[in-house]
Amino acid sequence: MLRNKLLDSLKLIVFLIAFYTISKIYYTSNFKEDFDLIIGESSNIHATWVGSTEVDKNIPILILAGHADSQGLAGAGTPGEAVDKFGLNPMHPGISDELFWNLKLQKSIVKLGIKKGLNISSYDPGIRNIDDANDPRTNWSVGKRFAKRGGYAIEIHFDAYGKHGVGSGLIPPFSDQPNKLDESIARTFGRFPVLFRGGLGAPRRQIRVLEIGKLEGLLEKNLRNLKTRKKTIKLLATEIVQAFLNGII
Ligand SMILES: [Zn+2]
Repeated sequence: MLRNKLLDSLKLIVFLIAFYTISKIYYTSNFKEDFDLIIGESSNIHATWVGSTEVDKNIPILILAGHADSQGLAGAGTPGEAVDKFGLNPMHPGISDELFWNLKLQKSIVKLGIKKGLNISSYDPGIRNIDDANDPRTNWSVGKRFAKRGGYAIEIHFDAYGKHGVGSGLIPPFSDQPNKLDESIARTFGRFPVLFRGGLGAPRRQIRVLEIGKLEGLLEKNLRNLKTRKKTIKLLATEIVQAFLNGII
C-alpha cells in the first residue's frame, strides 16, 4: 500500500517535471532574443556622417511617435506586410499599424529610460489628423521647439515592407552636427544619409528620425503574436535606451 502511494507520488513528480520542461521549451523557442535578426536589414544607402560632438548626460530627450498626427492623410505610415500583403486585420481601426506600434514603443522607451536615469519624455498630439505640418500641436512643431532649446528630439518609425522600405537606421538632423547620441544609435541601428529623400520634414526641423526596421517578417510576426509582443517591444526599447546611455557616458 505504502509502496503504491510512493510510486504514485513519484509518477506525479516525473509528470510535473516533464510538463514544466516541455512548456518551457515551447514558450522560449517561440522567441529568440536575437535583436539583429528581429529588426532585419539595415539601410545600405551610402552615408558618411560620424557623430562626434559631446552630449551632456542630462540632455532632455523627447520621443515622438511617427505619424501620430497624420492619420487619414498621405503620411499615415505603413500598414505593414500583414495587412497590406496578407490581408490581415489592422491592429486598430482608423490608424495605421505603424502608428499602433510607434505608440506602444514610445511608451516603453520612456518608461525604461526614466528607470535608467535618463531625462526623457514623450509627446503625443492626441489629435490624429492635423492637416498643417506647421500647426503648433504637431509632432514636428513640438520637436522643433524642443530641439531649439537644446533638447534631443527623435521620432520613431517602422519602415515600409519589401521593396517599399529601406530598413533600419538613423537619419540625423539637417543642420545640427550629428553628436555622440546619434553615433551610438547609428551603431545599433545603422545610418541613413543626412539628405535622404532630399531632406525630410523632421530632420529639416532638427528632429532625428529612427527607423526601427521594416514592418514585415519576423519583426511584425513577433509584434503581432500575443505571446511575444511584450518581449519584442521591451527588446527594442532596451536597445534604444542602451544606445542613449552609451552615447552620453
Ligand atoms: Zn513612418
